[in-house]
Amino acid sequence: MKVFKFGGASVSSAVAVRNSVNILKMYPGNKVLVISAMGKTTNALEIVARKYFSQDPEVWNIFQEVKAYHSGIITELWGQAVLLPEVEKLFDQMNNRIKGERSMNFDYEYDQIVAFGELISTQIISLYFNYIGINNRWIDVRNCLKTDDLYRESNINWELSARLAKRLFTFESDDLYITQGFIGGTLTNQTTTLGREGSDYTAAILANLLDAEEVSIWKNVPGILNADPDFFPNTQKLDELSYKEAIELSYSGAKVIHPKTIKPLQNKNIPLFVKSFLEPEKQGTIIHSVEHPLELVPVIIVKKNMALITLTPYDFSFISINSVSEVFSLCAKYRLKVGLLQQSALDLSLAFDEPELGIEPLISQLQQKFEVKYNTGLDLVTIRYYLPETVTQISAGRKVYVEQKSRRTARMLLK
Ligand code: ASP
Ligand code: MG
Repeated sequence: MKVFKFGGASVSSAVAVRNSVNILKMYPGNKVLVISAMGKTTNALEIVARKYFSQDPEVWNIFQEVKAYHSGIITELWGQAVLLPEVEKLFDQMNNRIKGERSMNFDYEYDQIVAFGELISTQIISLYFNYIGINNRWIDVRNCLKTDDLYRESNINWELSARLAKRLFTFESDDLYITQGFIGGTLTNQTTTLGREGSDYTAAILANLLDAEEVSIWKNVPGILNADPDFFPNTQKLDELSYKEAIELSYSGAKVIHPKTIKPLQNKNIPLFVKSFLEPEKQGTIIHSVEHPLELVPVIIVKKNMALITLTPYDFSFISINSVSEVFSLCAKYRLKVGLLQQSALDLSLAFDEPELGIEPLISQLQQKFEVKYNTGLDLVTIRYYLPETVTQISAGRKVYVEQKSRRTARMLLK
């Protein structure tokens, strides 16, 4: 059995959906299709969630835009305006939620609304596939991917999910299942999400639970490149990566795959293909267990909107393991993802993604113990397999706040 993941861009229009049919036809046999919300729907639904939470009546305009976008795709797919009761029902549910009472917990409300993107996209695609004769079964993934209630970043209950997934994806009378990426459900059936761009992770989780032979992620790039083509000329595709290398790259901020994707695959030795839905016959990148040394060119990853804080204890005591642990508990409380760390006798520096709600609450808490210096709007540049000239080129003319080098990796925090 193979797991395929189609991201937002690969199902953003009727043309794109039809293209995914051609890809499916290239691969006979049992498959699970994990699909994201269509196009930029999740971004739009994030705005819906915010406006709903702040009781801004503008919420209805965005809701209508999302609805019109999907209706347009349906009309084009069916060749005429059709009413799909399953899809109507989902829009009604979203409508009722926006009209209803909200709780005090934004993260909870966010998940309840944003998840409609995947529920709607998978319903449309499943109905369309059945309509054109590609029989498939739609699965509500919330019934088998069970999570805790850490909304917007929930954690999988692996044992329970494995049991439930094996019961749902039996492949007895179906050879094609269509289900949602990115979302899950708690034990009490509240909707959760796994973190933005989490559909890759869903594909990997299901592959792990169902012992898939391989996973393919279909993207609008030819595979994993050695740098972002929007910012660097002459990028090269990497044909092959080890699991470890892929984790390092995605953790450093390479956007092609979600960082959590690799572990479930590595644990069961399942290969991952990253391929282009525009040129599906091309080889793409394979991530798998590699015994031989890899020939790698320098790989440059830029993570934007980073904040850097430098802490110095007021009383001139050393940075002790206790102070580090206090700072890290705070980071956990604010859900900060620390990308770089540096310590001297009196200073502790941390770089992390700028928190959505601003850095001030964290700073004022840290100021109880430390003198705090901070900067925001920085780029964290990671270069794997760096050459001295790559480092100089990239930092030329820019202010360098922190620089770290190990044998293989150079990292710089730049203005
Ligand atoms: N639709 C979700 C997002 O845009 C999940 C995904 O695309 O992977 O974050
Ligand atoms: Mg998406």
